[in-house]
Amino acid sequence: MNHGAGATSGLFLLGSSPPFAPVAPILSEKRESTNMVGLTNEKNPMNTALIIVDMQNDFVEGGALAVAGGLALVPIINRIVQELGQTVLVVTSQDWHPLKAEHFNKWPVHCVANTKGAELVEGLKLPGNTIHVVKGMSGLDDGYSAFEGFEDRGGGGTLERILREREIQDVIVCGIATDYCVKATALDAVRFKYHTTLITNACVGVSQPTTEAALKDMAGAEVVLKQVQ
Ligand SMILES: [Zn+2]
Repeated sequence: MNHGAGATSGLFLLGSSPPFAPVAPILSEKRESTNMVGLTNEKNPMNTALIIVDMQNDFVEGGALAVAGGLALVPIINRIVQELGQTVLVVTSQDWHPLKAEHFNKWPVHCVANTKGAELVEGLKLPGNTIHVVKGMSGLDDGYSAFEGFEDRGGGGTLERILREREIQDVIVCGIATDYCVKATALDAVRFKYHTTLITNACVGVSQPTTEAALKDMAGAEVVLKQVQ
């Protein structure tokens, strides 16, 4: 594996993007647009994973910790999966909390394991070989990052091990919420040396100031920010 090539490419793409303007509203910011093919590993698209973060009932309209705009992501993510699903490894993450958790001192009770709220949003069209990881099971940790997740309802391998076994080099991140779990996932992906792209119009945040700050943090950590056409 050659992670160096991906990192160089990421820097180039970041350098060619317009400078980040933290005071501008997110929607008016210009981000590099790309067709779907431009999202995958340049040399071998198969070495790419699409991580769909926390598209769960409790995080969309009507849920216990609803993030505005969550449901509107479904058709966008479906289109990405439809166009990339044959070539990339599709991964979903889910919060999967115990009923009593320190995490709930910070947040309303949400995504309790084996409840409707923790299920993936209806309407997501995922390939049969999608990898599902769950996170935040201990009740002590927040479990923001999909890299804290385990396969097989918590009994299987870590996400990092799964990606390494499949020789993944590039990671694409989308989902909910930009300013928490999406951000933690993207920053972990960079830390694990994956060339990481965030699809800015395929994720939504809890609040605008924290979302702006999160986008700035991610861009500063060499996460490539792109929007799909
Ligand atoms: Zn949670």
